[in-house]
Amino acid sequence: MSTLINPISRRVSKQVFVGNVAVGGGAPVVVQSMTNTDTADIDDTVKQIIQLHDAGSEVVRITVNNKEAAAAVPYIMEKLDKKNVEVPVVGDFHYNGHMLLTQFPETAKALSKYRINPGNTGTRERDKNFCTIIEQAIKYDKPVRIGVNWGSLDQQLLAEKMDTNNALLEPKSSKEVMIDTMIESALRSTALAEEVGLASNKIIVSCKISGVQDLITVYTRLASVCDYPLHLGLTEAGMGMKGIVASSTALAVILQQGIGDTIRVSLTPEPNGDRALEVRVAQQILQSLGLRSFLPQVTSCPGCGRTKSTYFQELADEIQTYIVEMMPIWRQIYPGVEEMNVAVMGCVVNGPGESKHANIGISLPGTFEEPKAPVYVDGEHVTTLTGEGIGKRFKAMLEDYIISRYAIRSL
Ligand code: SF4
Repeated sequence: MSTLINPISRRVSKQVFVGNVAVGGGAPVVVQSMTNTDTADIDDTVKQIIQLHDAGSEVVRITVNNKEAAAAVPYIMEKLDKKNVEVPVVGDFHYNGHMLLTQFPETAKALSKYRINPGNTGTRERDKNFCTIIEQAIKYDKPVRIGVNWGSLDQQLLAEKMDTNNALLEPKSSKEVMIDTMIESALRSTALAEEVGLASNKIIVSCKISGVQDLITVYTRLASVCDYPLHLGLTEAGMGMKGIVASSTALAVILQQGIGDTIRVSLTPEPNGDRALEVRVAQQILQSLGLRSFLPQVTSCPGCGRTKSTYFQELADEIQTYIVEMMPIWRQIYPGVEEMNVAVMGCVVNGPGESKHANIGISLPGTFEEPKAPVYVDGEHVTTLTGEGIGKRFKAMLEDYIISRYAIRSL
């Protein structure tokens, strides 16, 4: 990756280990995701955990919502182990987590982290149940995420805060009170967890809400009042373009402030859609901000009336697809390749300039230009391709470049 003029200065936070993955304390921002299988269906869940992990999810969360799901967890971990898949698996608990973690000790042991929603640990015995989960975390030396969600906010606390607010001469808006309550719920829970005996470096916090501006407000405030690592995510982001744009917008603004130690992009998949899309979007957000590198980036222009041919679009697509397909192999044998930049441009206006800024770039001819395509390597014009098979020859040059630049060499 090229040197950034203004690299992001990260918020200082404690470091928490989720299995062997470091979260916070200056560690790279971790990408995580969540399965949508029935956890009790062991094979289906194992398959999806592997799919998410292969796509780059460094931590995978599964729901543990009932006895069948809890009973399945050790078998899921055993199957992953047999397939040599090493990924920390997090259990998502609501309502009955205190009972499940107590009744299924092998599950409590097998999981790498417990996610607790403090608004969903019960009605009458909320704190007692919460403390039971914390006791299990202490017993098995596991970290927890205290994950507040505005859709399941502690209603008792919210009602108290609303009453107090209504008595003020100048009451805040109900949205402001909601945000205050989310932060207070998270901090009350972290204090309670520490009182029970959980070490502060075993706690990750999140406060998720579905509005972009609200999420930015919550995390900006939360970051200033604690030093726990923060899990970021726009909850219920939605489907397709809406979900991707809303998540990217919210997370980018927060990450740009140096806030956030692990992220999840909560996309609603299309029916039978690819669950791993949320992983790729999370990676792209981090790479676009210059926080991490996962995949060589293809810079291509949008095209305009100066190029009527669709050839450069096809070539950009072909190169992009090729990179995605090859990355599992390249990652092993060409360290650093994920930082490479490739340019595929549509005409002479910006083509040569953009190509010179890339590691390797091609400027295809626009309408009425001579049918030739100059290729630039590390800023130098190395050749001009003409005639048939320009794309094929450019791909071969790309491969040669990768081998010469990134192949592991024995000293
Ligand atoms: S590089 Fe050429 S074809 Fe591409 S958008 Fe710019 S002017 Fe249009």
